[in-house]
Amino acid sequence: MTKIFNDPADFADEALAGFCDAHSDLVRQVEGGAVRRGRPSTPKVAVVTGGGSGHYPAFAGIIGPGFADGAVVGNIFTSPSTQQAYSVAKAANSGAGVVFTYGNYAGDVMNFGMASERLNAEGIATENVLVTDDIASASPAEIEKRRGIAGDFVVFKVMGAAAEAGLDLASVVQVGRKANDATRTIGTAFSGCTFPGSEQPLFRLPKGKMGLGLGIHGEPGLFDTELPTAVELGQELVRRVLAETPASGSTRLAVILNGLGSTKHEELFVLWRTIAPLLREAGYTLVMPEVGELVTSLDMAGASLTLTWLDDELEQYWTAPALTPAYRRGAVGFEASSAVYTEADPDHVAEADYSSTAESRAYAAHCLQALDTTAALLRDSESMLGDMDAIAGDGDHGRGMVRGSAAALDAARGAFELGAGAGSLLAAAGDAWADKAGGTSGVLWGAGLRALGQRLGDAETPTPAALAESVRAFAERLSSLGKAEIGDKTMMDALLPFAASLEDRVGSGTAVEEAWSAAAADATAAAEATAELRPLKGRARPLAEKSIGTPDPGATSLAMVFAAVGPHFTAVPVPAAANN
Ligand code: ADP
Ligand code: MG
Repeated sequence: MTKIFNDPADFADEALAGFCDAHSDLVRQVEGGAVRRGRPSTPKVAVVTGGGSGHYPAFAGIIGPGFADGAVVGNIFTSPSTQQAYSVAKAANSGAGVVFTYGNYAGDVMNFGMASERLNAEGIATENVLVTDDIASASPAEIEKRRGIAGDFVVFKVMGAAAEAGLDLASVVQVGRKANDATRTIGTAFSGCTFPGSEQPLFRLPKGKMGLGLGIHGEPGLFDTELPTAVELGQELVRRVLAETPASGSTRLAVILNGLGSTKHEELFVLWRTIAPLLREAGYTLVMPEVGELVTSLDMAGASLTLTWLDDELEQYWTAPALTPAYRRGAVGFEASSAVYTEADPDHVAEADYSSTAESRAYAAHCLQALDTTAALLRDSESMLGDMDAIAGDGDHGRGMVRGSAAALDAARGAFELGAGAGSLLAAAGDAWADKAGGTSGVLWGAGLRALGQRLGDAETPTPAALAESVRAFAERLSSLGKAEIGDKTMMDALLPFAASLEDRVGSGTAVEEAWSAAAADATAAAEATAELRPLKGRARPLAEKSIGTPDPGATSLAMVFAAVGPHFTAVPVPAAANN
């Protein structure tokens, strides 16, 4: 349990600030995360890792010569925002392009993906390398759906070394993908982790049991087994990972025996004593194995075993020197850390120059109230939504929605004061939501609100039909970003019925307030019905079975919010007839 904190909401930011101060010889804090202190004298590919906080030394702890150039640092277990990824990449870029590399989680994929689009559009060549090492999270047939856990470390390490050696962007990407293809991990949990400020861990294991196939966001294991002896555990881990030996025929292995946070080094060494001989008996040479904490999950107890089947190139980069706050290998001759590092272009948010009509200003006031209602509702529902997400996801849904909606309300108030119409107000709210919430739901809500605002515009009060179309724009943006369909057990299961129901009812002439509340009732029923479904998208997918019986948290919050904001959005739309 975390004992040292101030306001739990500030924990990740405060930890990053303290880390950057303690390691100011190597790292420098920038908007959204941290980058290397020294700047290369000749341009090199910038390797930028990232993800949520709570995994130290991943990800900021491995910034330095021979390893990462920067890390994007999200809130605890929460994807950083698009803006954060963009900002860190700009600060880390030295002119040879950027590669984002991170574990495969929907929120990260969307945020790093959107940041890449922006960077590429500005002429900064940017690529993405996803890590998918967790063999427990999907079958070999669906290998690309696997999540990234401690295998992150190997993939980041070889990419960092390859970039340091001067390889170009395409080659660094190719080395990274090869490392990922050659890496497999299985994890095991003995107890769940506890968020700072929380009384309860995210999950508990029955006494005498162990969870096999854990995630690194406090997701429980895929199934529980009797707590084995250290020898039995070592045998089980080796057996499971070797069962997935890739076809390369390599007999040289990079090995990581990783502690999850509160498992002691001594315990890991006891386990290693079984694992190492088993691997050698299987004919492998172990190349610079690592036994320690490399990718953690707050104070979770547990361990994971990662194997990477090396070829000559991967071995060269795996064994290359590195000098970072948390990890050192060999001797690095690196340029003086006092080298000038140009500041990232501060992304000036120009004082917005809004032009809107009086009519839209009046509607904007209602939109502002809708956001106020949303933020208050989510504050009251934070723990309920978090508990729901902890069953098969990572427990952060309540926190993310609160952070996002509070930031959206702030931004909307600011925009309103500067004269924004309804559309611009909602777009500004969406950008702030996406930036502050993190997580999959945050990106989606942010992008959806922006689309809603763009469709509404800053000129007219929407007719009922235009309001229904704007909701449709919200839904379409989410479909195109998240690619989830009805039945995948996501927020789309509430949103698509809402949008369709509103369109139908408005189309057949039902008064808009009535149409909205009937659509909200449909969405609520659809959200409740997700309890029956197995999740096919998002973090809950690997634990699909555990999720049965519990509704999807994202669908639940969406239905609640849409039900609550109806009176505001339908407050003034002029009757369809008046607008012909
Ligand atoms: P994270 O999954 O990143 O921890 P949250 O916990 O805030 O983010 O949100 C989880 C919710 O996000 C899920 O309950 C689901 O409704 C929604 N979600 C996950 N993936 C998708 C997707 N691809 N499309 C639409 N919604 C999704
Ligand atoms: Mg979550």
